[in-house]
Amino acid sequence: MKEQILIRITGKDRIGLTASIMDILARYDAQILDIGQADIHSSLSLGILIRIAGENSGQVMKELLFKATELGVNIGFEPVGEDEYEEWVARQGKNRYILTIIARTLSARQISAVARIIAEEGLNIDSIKRLTGRMSLKGEARSVRSCIEFSVRGNPQNEDMHAHLMKISSEMGIDFSFQKDNMYRRMRRLICFDMDSTLIQTECIDELAKRAGVGEQVQAITEQAMRGEIDFKESFTRRVALLKGLDASVMQDIAEHLPITEGVDRLMYVLKKYGYKIAILSGGFTYFGEYIQKKYGIDYVYANELEVGEDGKLTGRYVGEIVDGARKADLLRLIAQTEKVNLAQTIAVGDGANDLPMISQAGLGIAFHAKPRVVANARQSINTIGLDGVLYFLGFKDSYLGEVGKI
Ligand SMILES: [Mg+2]
Repeated sequence: MKEQILIRITGKDRIGLTASIMDILARYDAQILDIGQADIHSSLSLGILIRIAGENSGQVMKELLFKATELGVNIGFEPVGEDEYEEWVARQGKNRYILTIIARTLSARQISAVARIIAEEGLNIDSIKRLTGRMSLKGEARSVRSCIEFSVRGNPQNEDMHAHLMKISSEMGIDFSFQKDNMYRRMRRLICFDMDSTLIQTECIDELAKRAGVGEQVQAITEQAMRGEIDFKESFTRRVALLKGLDASVMQDIAEHLPITEGVDRLMYVLKKYGYKIAILSGGFTYFGEYIQKKYGIDYVYANELEVGEDGKLTGRYVGEIVDGARKADLLRLIAQTEKVNLAQTIAVGDGANDLPMISQAGLGIAFHAKPRVVANARQSINTIGLDGVLYFLGFKDSYLGEVGKI
């Protein structure tokens, strides 16, 4: 007769603890059905489910108890019946999801709200992991960030789970992503960024307009477009026309002073290091896109080309096809095809309404410090920290990143 016993060990972690416990189990030829360990602040919680010959179980538990006392940890035993065990095995086919939450600092109030939603959906939490590094109490406020990843199992029972998460996200200042935990999530390959107000903290057209002395006129057209009175193509054509006569050499000066968004250096370094293909898909201008491309070694840039006359001045016209929202989504698909990447392995990040088509098409679409309408239509968003927050949605831990250099 075989028996199943669940062994629970808690206490202060120390090197060699698992080895000494396993030595005893090995001597009695126990079969390991399940094993898991969590460490929180040097305190360990280890669970082992064993199957062992009934005649040995008393002796094994006695020896384990003795060893635990010697090691200064707590130990407990619980018999598990065969039916109960088989029921547990049968549950393994259920869907798994990863819920990631990010904020500068996370409070119990925020986590309680998230945990409440998980419970209301009838989802079971399998594990909880901190992805950010250990936080010093003396850390600088600006560099502080906190990210926790919940691995959950089951099928969400309410259709409005996303809406609930969105609500607490805006009320409590947390960012979240809720992704199916499958191989696509672990093997994203292509990431497409909007440029203006995403990779850089400005709109290049406004910078050019200021230099051309037409800042206010350009702004007025932008506002008309935002009110939906004119479409993107018309507003773009009219704004570019206002730049006529501006010396093209100002573009270099603007490019050299572009305010790069917080977290971009770290994000690009890591994405390159791990072999992601990176694209800029921008409704802005090629000149600046190419400048950023060189700076970070980005693979693709698609944006709008300003026409420069023989006199070295902007003609007020553009060359070729305008990159608008629909074109961005087409380009994402085309680059994915070229790179032989499944759409589920793509990521799109942007802040504007013209980013929504690519955001909704990508496997992982992220609204970044975006307008409310964009946030409302994206599956996930980042509003609380810099652009390197994307790395947490990809499952990167700060401790992995430490291995690739000081970043
Ligand atoms: Mg933008």
